[in-house]
Amino acid sequence: MRIEDVSAQVFRTTTRRHADSAGHAHPGPAHQVQMAMLTITADTGDKGYAFCPPELVRPYLLEKFVRKVLIGEDPRDRERLWQDLAHWQRGSAAQLTDRTLAIVDCALWDLAGRSLNQPVHKLIGAYRDKVPAYGSIMCGDEIEGGLATPDDYGRFCEKLVARGYKGIKLHTWMPPVSWAPDVKMDLKACAAAREAVGPDIHLMIDAFHWYSRTEALELGRGLEKLGFAWIEEPLDEQSMSTYAWLTKNLDIPVLGPESAAGKHFTRAEWIKAEACDILRTGVHDVGGITPALKSMRLAESFGMNCEVHGNGVENLIVTAVSKNCRWYERGLLHPFLEYDDGFDYLSQLGDPMDADGFVHLSDRPGLGLDINFDFIAENLVA
Ligand code: MG
Repeated sequence: MRIEDVSAQVFRTTTRRHADSAGHAHPGPAHQVQMAMLTITADTGDKGYAFCPPELVRPYLLEKFVRKVLIGEDPRDRERLWQDLAHWQRGSAAQLTDRTLAIVDCALWDLAGRSLNQPVHKLIGAYRDKVPAYGSIMCGDEIEGGLATPDDYGRFCEKLVARGYKGIKLHTWMPPVSWAPDVKMDLKACAAAREAVGPDIHLMIDAFHWYSRTEALELGRGLEKLGFAWIEEPLDEQSMSTYAWLTKNLDIPVLGPESAAGKHFTRAEWIKAEACDILRTGVHDVGGITPALKSMRLAESFGMNCEVHGNGVENLIVTAVSKNCRWYERGLLHPFLEYDDGFDYLSQLGDPMDADGFVHLSDRPGLGLDINFDFIAENLVA
């Protein structure tokens, strides 16, 4: 089996998510954005697909690095192809990112599953076929009735529990919200959430990422009183020592790193430095399913859980093939959006959740996406 072609198709998709000036998603009117589908084709006719923003598979990257590494190679040699692509990063002047590595790796896994008519979580070796989800709430905003006040968070958490979620994570207020960030307001939102859902629902927080040590400590100590399950990225992750300091000073589990560069190598350093209690990985943060699994097994070897960042079937698969991971992150969620509506380029939701809060893995071959190829063909960008 040899790779014959690597191509990207850019198409228009409709979304109600808008990014604010700092890049956080909030609800708004429906509008069109561009999305890319990466397709890897083998000489057997088998294909693998993965979706991403067009910039990650722009012609320069495909021509200069991805095709050079992939064309003519066996698509089943995922480890070597990943290593070869990762080697090109050093000389790419920061153009070839972990995000692009991740998309290529996902498409190769999809191709493997489709060619064998098997779902990827079964190919890797599943631990479970359904994973409990936590509802991951969008960042706070200034939208009336949205996520503008602590009570808004409390009301929304009640709704999420009624939908079936057994865990909820709050992203609190960050700039450009006019008065943010504010530790005391974060704690008020967390208290309102705890009050609304009672003691049995797992609550987590992902707060402003650039608090000082004293602010993060104040936040963490407040969350300990509210029985929160973890505190996530309240400090700039570039300073591992600061996380080691925070982890030592708090009883609440500290989770990380999510955004720090360095794939599974960085995660090994964090474990060694005792800079977190729960490790963090994510398919798009570390360069694919392949290195995400390495981080997951690394954590297991040290008796640690590793929680997976972000939604999507590729992240769902990593949670399903791991014992040392409690949750699938489902969202982002907002009172004015309906997550279960899905995407116009997929015929079915990739992460359907039942009334008990479990997301079920698909039996479809590959990553499990039910791609609407007609929609994509009709909405191609010239
Ligand atoms: Mg996060």
